[in-house]
Amino acid sequence: MTSTIDPSVIGKPRRARKHVRSLTGFTPETDEKGHEKWPRGDEKTWKDNLRGVDQSEGDVARSFVHHVQTSLARQPYNLDDLGAYQATALSVRDNLLVNWNETQLHFNRKGVKRAYYLSLEFLMGRTLDNALLNLGLKPQYTDGVDKLGFNIENLLDQERDAGLGNGGLGRLAACYLDSSASQELPLWGYGLRYQYGIFQQLIGPDGSQLEAPDPWLQHDNPWELPRADVVYEVRFYGHSERLEGGKALWSGGQEVLAIAYDVMIPGYETKNTNNLRLWESKPKRGFDLNSFNAGDYERAVESSNSAAAITSVLYPNDHTTFGKELRLKQQYFWTAASLADIVRRFKNLDKPMSEFPEYVSIQLNDTHPTLAIPELMRILVDEEDVRWDQAWDIITRTFFFTNHTVLPEALEKWPVPLMQHLLPRHMQIIFDINLAFLQAVEKKFPGDREKLARMSLIEEGYPQNVRMANLACIGSHKVNGVAELHSELVRATIMKDFVDFYGVSKFFNVTNGITPRRWLDQCNPGLSNLISETLKLPKAAFLKDLFKLEGLLKHTEDPKFIKKWAAVKQSNKERLAHYVEQTLGLTINTHAMFDVQIKRLHEYKRQTLNIFGVIHRYLTLKAMTPAERKKVNPKVVFFAGKAAPGYYIAKLTIRLIVNVARIINDDPETKDLLSLYFLPDYSVSLAEILIPASDISQHISTAGTEASGTSNMKFCLNGGLLLGTVDGANIEIAEEVGEQNVFFFGHLTPAVEDLRYQHMYHPVPVEEKCPALARVLDEVASGRFGDGSVYEPLLNTVRQNDYYLLTEDFDSYIQALSLVDEAYQNRVGWIKKSICTTAKMGKFSSDRAIQDYAQECWNIESSRLE
Ligand SMILES: *Cc1c(COP(=O)(O)O)cnc(C)c1O
Repeated sequence: MTSTIDPSVIGKPRRARKHVRSLTGFTPETDEKGHEKWPRGDEKTWKDNLRGVDQSEGDVARSFVHHVQTSLARQPYNLDDLGAYQATALSVRDNLLVNWNETQLHFNRKGVKRAYYLSLEFLMGRTLDNALLNLGLKPQYTDGVDKLGFNIENLLDQERDAGLGNGGLGRLAACYLDSSASQELPLWGYGLRYQYGIFQQLIGPDGSQLEAPDPWLQHDNPWELPRADVVYEVRFYGHSERLEGGKALWSGGQEVLAIAYDVMIPGYETKNTNNLRLWESKPKRGFDLNSFNAGDYERAVESSNSAAAITSVLYPNDHTTFGKELRLKQQYFWTAASLADIVRRFKNLDKPMSEFPEYVSIQLNDTHPTLAIPELMRILVDEEDVRWDQAWDIITRTFFFTNHTVLPEALEKWPVPLMQHLLPRHMQIIFDINLAFLQAVEKKFPGDREKLARMSLIEEGYPQNVRMANLACIGSHKVNGVAELHSELVRATIMKDFVDFYGVSKFFNVTNGITPRRWLDQCNPGLSNLISETLKLPKAAFLKDLFKLEGLLKHTEDPKFIKKWAAVKQSNKERLAHYVEQTLGLTINTHAMFDVQIKRLHEYKRQTLNIFGVIHRYLTLKAMTPAERKKVNPKVVFFAGKAAPGYYIAKLTIRLIVNVARIINDDPETKDLLSLYFLPDYSVSLAEILIPASDISQHISTAGTEASGTSNMKFCLNGGLLLGTVDGANIEIAEEVGEQNVFFFGHLTPAVEDLRYQHMYHPVPVEEKCPALARVLDEVASGRFGDGSVYEPLLNTVRQNDYYLLTEDFDSYIQALSLVDEAYQNRVGWIKKSICTTAKMGKFSSDRAIQDYAQECWNIESSRLE
């Protein structure tokens, strides 16, 4: 979306017709009411009519019309925006398909080593704009569709987000695909083709989150290609019979088919086009014919239903696990199909199995794909006749594991009885791996029973559980965290015993990154243009080497440049205001400071701290005299984010935010100085509108809980300043941009454990610890923002053991907010900070992160398709 929204193009059929008329000279007859009678049939095709359109646009128009008439089987005359989007997408896809095929051929011919990124989530967002920018075809398509009577921005807006992820972890996977294609690296993604992605969020009359399904495949998805020829059988249940030599025969149970769908991933300014392969589940036989013949219709369709259910829906939990059987089925289905595909591709090279790690590296994105480890053992030992020890050696040279969190509730565990039932062979393999591993531990640390118990793949209890992080760690060559502090915490806490056992060199850090193509050029073309003009460089120069942004530092004293920088921010604020007006019918003061917190709703991310801070500001304003209020800078606070449907406290936080907004936005005394918006249904596309408009954004997790964060990087790249805790990648952002350009507050990670202990065993009432916060809690409880009793459970999380330490950080948070206000008063000083922030974001390009992985782990090389 850009600000060039032309209201006259709404209701496209008429404009399209006007255009046909101008191109062809065709004048329809009118009926008695004066309405034009356009032909239903097609005497003159558009193709014939397109004489006189110049070459490049002509190509676009011809291919557009071709797809309208053949792929869509529609008439160009009465095409709506959706149809025009589809025709445009299919036309762009033609370009991608050729490049995609050539890229695969190129890598196959060279017989290169490949890497695979296994992720249960890929939060891709929209594709058309990104494909146009990466292919360098945006100007041609903008003009081409314009000639046909359409506005490209309106067509881009027709696309539904591909929301196959919850939040940061899934978006990271998407950024990594863009970076690997752009750097011409042979990396494929493997994931699941959920019928329903992340739910749509609605806000109910009482302010609560409501969830609706996300039928993103309702209209044809032009960005995927079904591969009817790429199909694997995946087995569940049955029984496993041990044979000699460590082998086993797994048979019986249920067999399900995995069908491949390929999503093309275009690189930026290169023909290289990588692949994201998503699996869909299908019953092996449509019906159980025996049951069907016996008249048991229910039973006949049951098995087909349960097969299709595997890829029906994305689990909407972020940072929490639920031991649901269907989730484990998803994980195995996806890893089994992916490994079968990877092994088949390796076998085409005609190399001995022992060379597998020379040609294949597999990155495990969190513990979700950990079953790939026992699955590859099963393939090697049971099917490929590789000896157990040699198979284990292959495994530990092939896999790499990324840990994404140290929160206890997020560490995956699966009950042994469930695993035994669903995957009997894998359970045997896990027990065998564990036995050999614990013997090695015992040898190195004789007699340390507690260490053995902590490191075991099996957690004792009723039932026993399989610890997926332990399995992922011992089966991988290397283990990484996603920011310096987080990697340090991984080594010091959840992996400490493993560091003692393996040595520290197995554990390292890759700080996350974001793709500057989407998160600068696509979402903020105004800023990208200004940077290009100022640096006197083509955009590709800094979009491919983000460190080039440092060149902006030379211009921080240039008043003309400062003015232009401010003007870009202003127009992005207006674009956001326009969006809010269109979607919610609300008017926003674009001259206020825009303060944004957008991310999944979670207690550790502390949206509560923010909303309590807003209430505090409101109460402070109310207590001021009109003269005092005159000195206050107006501020608009934005929230967006989804809560897991079963996460009661997070949903209650949304309800509080919405109801506080209703009260304060309606208060005539203060509404010009403070307003608050909760924008529903946070998504990649919404982020692309919000982020460029922010003056300040909040990343305020309890220290030590946010592994990295990536939206912090997106905001800073777009010249928004950062208000945050000393946590995750905030720390490294501050190192780059300088502490004078960020607003830090709150306790540091080493203090957190002690503080929690004190809250647990020596609690001090909020009234004593933090009177300002106590006052806010009392206002909420008293019903100032609607029935106070509703919020009691939320208030109690603070009043009782305050696990996320709001009472400890609230005062310094409020102080930091005043420093933000003060800094914003000096407008030129603020803009300089903004420029310096953008200028120093080079490190946070996902191109750098992918290079770290390619060199530290995968050992793969770039190869450009000419
Ligand atoms: C970047 C991004 C995230 C991650 O945000 P954090 O603030 O780092 O948790 C989540 N959702 C979407 C849609 C994103 O684009």
